[in-house]
Amino acid sequence: MTHLEVEILAIGAGPANLALAVALEELSPELARQTMMVEQSEGIVWQRGLLVPWAQSQVSFLKDLATLRNPRSRFTFVNYLHESGRLDDFMSLGTFTPYRREISDYLRWVADELEHVKLHFNRRAVEITPVRDADGGLAHWDVTFVDGTVVRARHLVAACGRDPQIPEVFRDLPAERVVHSSEYSQRVPALSARASRRIAVIGGAQSAVEMVQAVQDDVPGCSRVLITRGIGLTPYVTSKFTSRYYSTAASREFYDLGEEGRGLILDEMARSNYSGVTPELLDGLYHQMYRDRLDGKEGLRILASCEIVSATESEDGVVLALRDRITGERSELACDTVLLGTGYDQAMPAVLRRLGQSLGLAGLEVLRNYRVATGDLGADAATLHLQGVNEATHGIADSLLSTMANRAGDIVEDLIRHVEARATADGTDTATPR
Ligand SMILES: Cc1cc2nc3c(=O)[nH]c(=O)nc-3n(C[C@H](O)[C@H](O)[C@H](O)COP(=O)(O)OP(=O)(O)OC[C@H]3O[C@@H](n4cnc5c(N)ncnc54)[C@H](O)[C@@H]3O)c2cc1C
Repeated sequence: MTHLEVEILAIGAGPANLALAVALEELSPELARQTMMVEQSEGIVWQRGLLVPWAQSQVSFLKDLATLRNPRSRFTFVNYLHESGRLDDFMSLGTFTPYRREISDYLRWVADELEHVKLHFNRRAVEITPVRDADGGLAHWDVTFVDGTVVRARHLVAACGRDPQIPEVFRDLPAERVVHSSEYSQRVPALSARASRRIAVIGGAQSAVEMVQAVQDDVPGCSRVLITRGIGLTPYVTSKFTSRYYSTAASREFYDLGEEGRGLILDEMARSNYSGVTPELLDGLYHQMYRDRLDGKEGLRILASCEIVSATESEDGVVLALRDRITGERSELACDTVLLGTGYDQAMPAVLRRLGQSLGLAGLEVLRNYRVATGDLGADAATLHLQGVNEATHGIADSLLSTMANRAGDIVEDLIRHVEARATADGTDTATPR
């Protein structure tokens, strides 16, 4: 049952679709007025699952939702600081990388400042159904929400982030014993005393190390073990010479490359974004472990080159069976709760995978302008754009803030072209949608 019809429906109100909203308001207020954005949570919070108070963004504040597309926009991070009365203080910090919670507050501010795009919270999209016309072309999308309501949209822009990666070995543990980093802030501070005496953190990258540090404050007195497959924690491998791969220009060049060229760049750049830790965090951790040893405290234990063979529930918690990848030695570790810093699934989120199936496509791949090639060119009135899940075609920056402002501009330009083309075809082009 369709309850509402809109021209554009944006699913997810993370930074990617907020950048879209900003671009719509600046490039086509008329289309912005016909746009609805839905968010499953009750408000705007950036990466709410792991918003630890001291964590800083890893990307320059100049890569905000607007600056690189339109430095004169009123939605820039600098204008947010100005409006919040913190511009001078921020300058004195002497950094390009704000606290993540400040970026989160900037996103909320942007959402509050939108004039035309309508935002709806507590609306989780669970199914997207293509609606075809008599000729088989795509006419609309019917999006069903968790409460059973349906919104029909001509144009869909999905920016739902990615699904958490839960390794097979942990899937049979009771849910209350396992916390993925995407739920850390909501669940860990609320753990019962019994569930939080012995904490095992799995993973060797940024989210694992952030959790192992944050849990000291959130669960005072707990014992902490970090288990990683690598032979030791290592920093992100970055350089001023490779940072251009995080630019819009590089993303556009990447799209034009063949499979081999794309693969080579993604392989070489992988350690700049995955499986690493910021040097500052690593340094702080090492210093703290050293001071703990000086003080004769137990402190954090790191089990490196360690594989988890099985994870089973025991009478008072969880038993992890471990294998040392270097010596082959086997051991067991008992803990109360397992925190997973195991990252995110590289595959499309489930809701989009199901949509691909109902479109009869082997996978959802986007064109240069982030539009999914749904069928024969020109046959479809409805369009689908995807944000944040196109690393394979648009390069290493795709899931990050880095290219969002320009990407949103590209998508809006494409939407404007579509709406204009349809108006011309229908003979209703009395006004341009800008
Ligand atoms: C802990 C952490 C730290 C990070 N730090 C940085 C950083 O410093 N710099 C950087 O550039 N990138 C960072 N990233 C990468 C991050 O992916 C991007 O910064 C950015 O958040 C991606 O934006 P997005 O809008 O595509 O996705 P998300 O930010 O994931 O937003 C998706 C939104 O969609 C909503 N949603 C999902 N499914 C549905 C649905 N079915 N119905 C309705 N709403 C839905 C979600 O609730 C969410 O609000 C970090 C990621 C994590 C996990």
